[in-house]
Amino acid sequence: MLKNLGQGLLDLFYPYSCCACGKKIPPGIFCAECRVRIEPLTVTVFPYLFSAVRYREPIVTAIHRFKYRGEVFLAPYLSEFLIELCQCHKLKERIDCVVPVPLHPTRFRERNFNQAELLGQEIAACFSLPVLNRFLIRFRNTPSQTGLSGKERMANVSDAFQVRKDVTFKGRRCLLVDDVLTTGATLSACRSRLLSAGAAEVYGLALARD
Ligand SMILES: [Zn+2]
Repeated sequence: MLKNLGQGLLDLFYPYSCCACGKKIPPGIFCAECRVRIEPLTVTVFPYLFSAVRYREPIVTAIHRFKYRGEVFLAPYLSEFLIELCQCHKLKERIDCVVPVPLHPTRFRERNFNQAELLGQEIAACFSLPVLNRFLIRFRNTPSQTGLSGKERMANVSDAFQVRKDVTFKGRRCLLVDDVLTTGATLSACRSRLLSAGAAEVYGLALARD
């Protein structure tokens, strides 16, 4: 009885489990010990490409659970890192829309959601900006980027994206959003497509950098 009461109280105040180690926590994503292991990134790869944290544990586990196990309730927690970065670099003042990096339709059907879109929606909602979703399309399902050099990755994705023929980005100041940045090839490819479609400014933002 006492044990049940204790458990009940614990569940009431600590209803969540740390995404990385499983410890019971108050509403959130990580316990305090895991949280301090997250390494924020302040230096950018290119002046127009930003990433919030280093792709190391416990973020790796969180991204895997979000992306491959479909734990989409993690999106608002993970996007907090992106929102913080936007505020830190004063990106909000420099953009007027959010553009998630698209998935290929085949990949989208397999997964049922686009992780970049879910993160983008959170940022857009926070800054009261529109999400220009599916304006940019991925028409080539690029083979896995794993094991490719930076140059090979660039060639692999450079012609994989296209702006829909019936839309324009003329004068738009876009924030591209993706989950993981490795060489920056994907964000750079999307960025050049948006610029070709008339965008005035395009920034790329990834949650984690490998
Ligand atoms: Zn933990």
